[in-house]
Amino acid sequence: MTLKRRDFIRTTGLAMGYSLLPYSNLFANTNQKQLGVCLVGLGNYSTSILAPALQLTKHCKLTGIVTGSPWKIPKWQRRYDIPDKNVYSYDTIDRIANNPDIDVIYIVVPTGLHATYAIEAANTGKHVWCEKPMAKTEAECKAIIEACKKNKVKLSIGYRMQHEPNTRTIIDWATTKPFGAIKTLRAEIGYNVGNPARSWRLNSKLGGGTMYDLGVYALNAARYTTGEEPITVSAKQMTTRPKIFTETDETTHFTLEFPSGAIAHGKTSVGKSMHELYVDCEKGWYTLAPFSMYGGVQGKASNGKLLNIPIKNQQAQQMDDDALAIIQNKPVMVPGEEGMKDIKIVEAIYKSAKLNKTITL
Ligand code: NDP
Repeated sequence: MTLKRRDFIRTTGLAMGYSLLPYSNLFANTNQKQLGVCLVGLGNYSTSILAPALQLTKHCKLTGIVTGSPWKIPKWQRRYDIPDKNVYSYDTIDRIANNPDIDVIYIVVPTGLHATYAIEAANTGKHVWCEKPMAKTEAECKAIIEACKKNKVKLSIGYRMQHEPNTRTIIDWATTKPFGAIKTLRAEIGYNVGNPARSWRLNSKLGGGTMYDLGVYALNAARYTTGEEPITVSAKQMTTRPKIFTETDETTHFTLEFPSGAIAHGKTSVGKSMHELYVDCEKGWYTLAPFSMYGGVQGKASNGKLLNIPIKNQQAQQMDDDALAIIQNKPVMVPGEEGMKDIKIVEAIYKSAKLNKTITL
């Protein structure tokens, strides 16, 4: 018999046999070589990318799942050898507190639900990894950061590009400035996704909107490429398919002005394919194209230097970096504060587009 979502939530809740000891395993397994990771939300990214990538990590192991879709469970259990006691529903996340197999809870649900589950995850006393974009609003980001601080757990945001070696070179150049000061940059990311009918990505409440899903890559790139925070933002939004994009944007263009005088022009769209970061400096230029895909990130500079360091798997690198930060008790590479800075600007971009005026940050 197929269990309905509600029945499943109830029965798994009863089956866990949990105790009420609070945060009993805070930092419990941090001496072990591999941290147990529990994926929350078994959608496309978890299924096709994160779970396979976990198999390639040195310091992580997929040990638990949280899902509202009981029909997904048998396949995941068989494929990844996950015991019944490590399977949870959204209503039983609190019980992970007493599961020593799980050290990290990784939130991979629609963006509008990140804050709810990231805070619940932090309250179990387990470390929290949260997918990008961190949340819908700056206030939600703050609440996640506070919950992690209160529970003394680490929080990492899933900005995989900041772990990618060619991107790291660009990030270093923000400080070393091998081509002089940056004058302008272009960061453009888009896919023609066809008609995403029925996807939460069209639902504003659930965190839909091109700026959230894709635009944060361009925005984050503008910030890590300059190493600065913008002082003004102006934006425009447009759609060629108003019947589909009734509550979310299809395309956003934004301009950021930085304290040094550098100007960033960002574009993002789910109607057009584009994947380039181009940086124009006083004494030359450099580019990464594509700059944000899962693989093949590469580029070149005006002096002939190629940016083509290979990487086996971005997500495995990201999760190993984040696991090592926990094991060695070091700062994480992409903390909550970094995710929150983007969301503050995303909110300003939407405001600028709506009011048709430049916003000072
Ligand atoms: P999907 O729609 O494929 O999956 C989302 C999953 O969340 C669902 O399958 C479901 O899992 C769970 N879920 C819980 N509540 C809801 C709800 N109300 N509506 C819909 N789904 C729900 O999305 P993705 O996997 O593509 O994206 C998930 C997150 O990962 C997003 O934050 C996205 O921005 C991020 N992402 C990051 C990428 C990156 O490169 N870093 C790439 C792609 C996505 P279940 O049935 O198990 O409950």
